[in-house]
Amino acid sequence: SKALDLDEPVRATDNDAALARLSAVRKGYLVDPFIIHFVPRAHLQPPRPPLINIGTYIRGTGLDELVESFIGLATGQGKKAQIVSLGAGSDTRFWRLHAGTSREHLACYIELDFPENTTRKAMAVRKSKVLSAALGRSEDIQIGDGGTSLHSSIYRLLPLDLRLPPSVSLAPKLAPILDPSSPLLILCECVLAYVASAASDAVLRWFADFSSSNDGVTGVIIYEMFGLEDSFGRVMKNNLKSRHVELPGAEPYNSLDSLRQRFFRLGFEEARALTLRDFRRTHISVTEQMRIARIEMLDEVEELELVLQHYAISWGIKLSAKQANAWLEW
Ligand code: SAM
Repeated sequence: SKALDLDEPVRATDNDAALARLSAVRKGYLVDPFIIHFVPRAHLQPPRPPLINIGTYIRGTGLDELVESFIGLATGQGKKAQIVSLGAGSDTRFWRLHAGTSREHLACYIELDFPENTTRKAMAVRKSKVLSAALGRSEDIQIGDGGTSLHSSIYRLLPLDLRLPPSVSLAPKLAPILDPSSPLLILCECVLAYVASAASDAVLRWFADFSSSNDGVTGVIIYEMFGLEDSFGRVMKNNLKSRHVELPGAEPYNSLDSLRQRFFRLGFEEARALTLRDFRRTHISVTEQMRIARIEMLDEVEELELVLQHYAISWGIKLSAKQANAWLEW
């Protein structure tokens, strides 16, 4: 029954993500004309504190850059990229890519989440002319599986529990629709920490194995809290605990190196990891930093640094056997 639904607090973390994004957009940190369509009564939602807005801005900017860069890699090979987003929630990335120059370099975009969340998203897409226009003619958009899935030629929304073994969840859903000869990017933005490591490892390994059977490349981008063993990390964990959200998958990752090792352990060949704090220093231009600093007054400068130090973007890549051979014979 609903009262005993232990997954509800985890599904509800998507509301926080969407409200933070809406707030950052309204204040002028980010540009995203689509988020408003995913937040009920968007005009009544109060802004989030500056610290959240800035964090949302840095996270969004960093992941956008990495995604665009993967699409560039695919384009360089003369191919279109396929993107699969795990625990996509109310993410608007598909619509933002589709509205920009990446549109013609995108083969398909697939979003997975719990059925309650995919149902809500499918309804929002159907209700909004702006969102559904990106998916083509209305007769080409199909709602299926009792309202929990949505299919169009370029975009799909599929219900799936990431805790299930990939052989019964990912394989039957994705193997028939992914093109084994095109580059594939897996996006995991704030989702793997909610899943026990054994289960999320199995998911990532399934994607790594998928690329040995194809002649493309598979890239994975993971964004997550990490290093939660120190005192500030414990505060962050307790915050979530008070809202009945556990992080079983965050435990093993206490350093950037442990985040990189995850990729090697699961069959990927190259990996990088960066804290949001480092990303801000090294990837955001001085002009942009000055623009951000002028938007709102931030009192908690030290707290911001601590928060940014506890979030990491890590990314890894696996080449297919065929490509690896070409590389070795170089
Ligand atoms: N990726 C989006 C973003 O960054 O804006 C949403 C992030 S939200 C914090 C976490 C999402 O992961 C939620 O939509 C939740 O339902 C989904 N999720 C968590 N555990 C999941 C699981 N076992 N299977 C499928 N989805 C899951």
